[in-house]
This record gives sequence, structure tokens and C-alpha cells, in this order.
Amino acid sequence: MKLVHKYINNQPIVWFHKKKEKSNQFCLYCGTHVGFSSEEASNKEHLIGRQFVPSGAFQEGKGFNLIFRACEVCNSRKAEIERHISSVTLLNGIPNQENSEYVDRAIIKASKDFHPLKQGVLVKDASDKQKFNFNFGSMKISFESISPPQLSQEYIKALSFYHIQGFFSLLTSSNPEVVSGTKLLPEKNFWFHGAYTHGDWGNAELMEIAKRIEILRCNANISTADGNFKVLMCHSIKDPSYWFWALEWNKNLRVVGGIYSPKKCPPIFDDLPIQQWKPLGEGSDGAKHRIREEIPLDKNDDILFSYKVYQEK
Ligand SMILES: [Zn+2]
Repeated sequence: MKLVHKYINNQPIVWFHKKKEKSNQFCLYCGTHVGFSSEEASNKEHLIGRQFVPSGAFQEGKGFNLIFRACEVCNSRKAEIERHISSVTLLNGIPNQENSEYVDRAIIKASKDFHPLKQGVLVKDASDKQKFNFNFGSMKISFESISPPQLSQEYIKALSFYHIQGFFSLLTSSNPEVVSGTKLLPEKNFWFHGAYTHGDWGNAELMEIAKRIEILRCNANISTADGNFKVLMCHSIKDPSYWFWALEWNKNLRVVGGIYSPKKCPPIFDDLPIQQWKPLGEGSDGAKHRIREEIPLDKNDDILFSYKVYQEK
């Protein structure tokens, strides 16, 4: 398996053409026919939104991307989700950016974009401040916690599904210009395992996953937009319908999952080390709270995106 259809290293792959008959025939996200003689409204879509990464990180015509025809409904829904995830991950990812221009642009973006889960609140002001009061026997303890702007798991799941659908079609379609040459990834086979912010990339679960994928065959390992977008796709040699994938967004968030039989957990995620959560007791809001220490990743131990792509001889 290899990247097909007009692939040149470090350049976008273009499946889009003004003429529908010369474009990809299906929206890669919902499977709607957008090709020859289709009446469905469709337009040009960049799998990795150009504004998703720091502006300027994609130089025109350079760097990997997949450009194809998508239906307008999917295109605009994805743009909306992407905008929110972008402004939050760019802001929270500032400590990991070496380029000071990207830092400035992240702050400007977070100062303009409203937070998806907090009506009327800008992303830059969306830190979560909460007060907790706990009773331990006769002792009363109270503390305040401030956490950076949070993302909804639903948004993360939706965007990772869009991205992985695009890469799956790219790696498996023999010719997207014809119906018979197109492969799409249905939602029932998509497995979302979890998302982890930068300060927690060294946790036992992610470390174990990164080791386990060694037995799989790596189909794609792409870093683009100055390292602000990374994707890894691997599949099992014994069962080609079983895949592992990982994404990294704006040096801030890693998301991992698989492609497998409907509703079944891909074996790579079976019996992972148990995360050490400590119960905190009941808070003033009446809910039970728990905490876990984040474990940062030492650069020397970072192997997740280090796997080499398998070359057919
Ligand atoms: Zn669509």
C-alpha cells in the first residue's frame, strides 16, 4: 500500500478539478456522490484546513495536504469544528512553539474567536476557574483550580474522524476519479480511543500504545505545516482491515484510535496500563471529583511518530 494518485513528496495531492467528472466522485466524509452529473452542491476542500495550523505554516503549493471535492454540508461543518479546535490548540500549544510569529498569531486568533462551549466568551478568556470545598472527616479543605481553555470531546472526535477518513481514502483508493476505484471509511468502523494534551504525552497508556504499534505495518507518517500537523496510519499484516491511527494538532494535542470491526475495540487498546486516578471526595457542587498527575514526555522517549513507512519491494 502506498500513497497513490499524483503523489510528489512534500506537495499537496490534488483530487479536485473544476470539472466534476475529473474530480473524486464521492464526498470522502459522507459518501454523497459529488462527481459526474451530480446535482449535489460541492466545492474544494483541504483535508488539513489552511487556517487550522498557524497562519503562514503552509506555504502556498508546498507541504503535504489532500485537496478534493466535498459536499458543501460536510465542508462547512468541518470548517466550523476546525476553527474552534484550531484556536484552542494554538493558544494552549504556545509553550511548544519555537517560531515567535506563530505565537503572536495564536494570541490574535484566540482574541477574535469565541469559545464553542461558552457563549459570548473569547477563547483567550475561556480558562476554567472552579472553587472546590471538600470535607475530610472533621477537616474542611478548599482550593481553586484554573485550567486552560478546554475542548469538547465531541469536537475532537468529529475532527479526527474527518481527518482519518481523508487519509484512509488516500491510502486505499486506486483511482478516486472512478466509482469502482474509490474507498471510503464508514463511521461504524472508526474507533476513537482518546486525546491527550502535551503535558501528558508521557503517560503510561500512550507510552504502551507507542510501543505496541511496532508490530503493525506503517502506511503513512506525515508531518506538515512546520510540524503543526502530524498523522500516522498503520495496519495489521495479518488482518488488513485492522488499523491504528494517531494525529497531532498544533504541537498541543495527540489523538489516537483505530479502524476495526463495528463496535469492537481494536486489540492494540486491550489491557492498557490503568491510569492512576486519585479520588478527591465530594465537592461543593455535590459531584465526586478525581485527579491524576500529568506525565510529560521526554523527547528521547518520543517514538509515536518515529515509525518508518513500509516500502513495497
Ligand atoms: Zn459530505
